[in-house]
Amino acid sequence: MRNLLFVISGPSGVGKGTIVDALMECDKTLAKSVSCTTRAPRRGEKEGDSYYFITEREFRSRIEENDFLEYDEHFGNFYGTPRSFVERQLKERSVILEIDVVGGLNCKRLMPDKSVLIMIVPPTPEALVARLDGRGSETEEAKKSRLQRVRYELGQCDLYDYVVVNDTLEEALRKVREIIATEQNK
Ligand code: ADP
Ligand code: 5GP
Repeated sequence: MRNLLFVISGPSGVGKGTIVDALMECDKTLAKSVSCTTRAPRRGEKEGDSYYFITEREFRSRIEENDFLEYDEHFGNFYGTPRSFVERQLKERSVILEIDVVGGLNCKRLMPDKSVLIMIVPPTPEALVARLDGRGSETEEAKKSRLQRVRYELGQCDLYDYVVVNDTLEEALRKVREIIATEQNK
């Protein structure tokens, strides 16, 4: 079986986190990479679970030390994938990254034989807005900037290996698991 880097991307509020959590629950062989970010934690987000929350100063010094496999800036905050965790885990198992499209495409460039890019898309634009509203985690301002980025993210679908519609969670999870199994056994 191949140990691969599965990148899950898609617009904010589409259900990436929900799918990844469910995936980790039902497949204990996978490792989830936890990114570092300089943004403030949302209500309910735990250190080391959703993200490692670090200062911009620390983030910049870790960039200098080449500690990130890839990193990017979104909505005025930095986000990065810890390199050592991913490289260590890949020796033993497949790794799941929940990152944006630029990060995903960077992974493909850096590790073309290992990276499998999966884009999660909403069934309709209205469903996406409703989910983002329903999560209730964003200020109006933050919601607006996230929605403005949707067109760009979805526009990168063609560069991704797979596109999965998150209509019902059950079906989306089944498809993602199928992709993982197929790729690992290729
Ligand atoms: P993301 O990680 O992509 O920003 P989340 O996983 O936080 O998105 O999901 C955003 C909201 O949508 C959450 O409230 C979640 O419960 C809800 N959600 C996720 N998947 C579905 C689905 N298939 N149907 C309805 N609601 C969903
Ligand atoms: P949020 O603030 O909503 O949690 O995340 C904002 C965006 O940052 C999302 O598109 C998310 O996928 C992306 N993101 C999270 N972690 C990383 C990372 O390590 N690298 C990159 N490039 N993007 C990330």
